Amino acid sequence: MSFVFTPPAQASVPVVGSSERFPVRRVYCVGRNYVEHAKEMGFTGREAPFFFLKPADAVVPVNAGETGSIAYPSLTKDLHHEIELVACIGTGGKNIKAADALNHIWGYAVGLDMTRRDLQGEMKKQGRPWCIGKAFEQSAPIGPITPAAQAGDVANAEIWLKVNGQDRQRSTVSKLIWNLSEIIEHISTAWELAPGDLIYTGTPEGVAAVSPGDTLEGGVAGLTPLSVKIAAAR
Ligand code: MN
Repeated sequence: MSFVFTPPAQASVPVVGSSERFPVRRVYCVGRNYVEHAKEMGFTGREAPFFFLKPADAVVPVNAGETGSIAYPSLTKDLHHEIELVACIGTGGKNIKAADALNHIWGYAVGLDMTRRDLQGEMKKQGRPWCIGKAFEQSAPIGPITPAAQAGDVANAEIWLKVNGQDRQRSTVSKLIWNLSEIIEHISTAWELAPGDLIYTGTPEGVAAVSPGDTLEGGVAGLTPLSVKIAAAR
């Protein structure tokens, strides 16, 4: 087959203990999935889970022991960090039952759902899509993927983020409102999951702004940590 121009490179993420990479198909994200974060965003109570997507080319893979770099995005004056556990789908499916859902997970990684909070807030107010606040270039940094069998008890792992060495977010994955199995069940009723899909599972409380020059270091216990520096605007 020939194309009218060179196709874009396949987005991919490094894998712990392997030279092979995990190819990315779609990036699903769960909104307001920790109680204390829902509260800080002005919401209370258990809502039905809801989702948004980022394009695969928003993924910024960062190798173990390295610090990735993302440009401060255009249009915003309020770029926020959201540290998240990312579930990486290895076996697809439609209408996956929660009881079987974990069998569909190939591995886990630490990710950042970077958010143009001012633009997202404006879109919320106007009842418009969140795309401009969430789905911009370089908005989904991610560390290496640990295969599920080696990832330990991620469902109860500590999750944390520091900015310039100062604590910003610290919680535990056990505080997810909708757990990993329930998330997969819900997403797969609306979409057909496929190998290569990433699911950013939501962020705990403590989201706040970052500036060019800041260094973000985040982790989920048992997984390779993620380090990202905010570069100048472009
Ligand atoms: Mn998020």
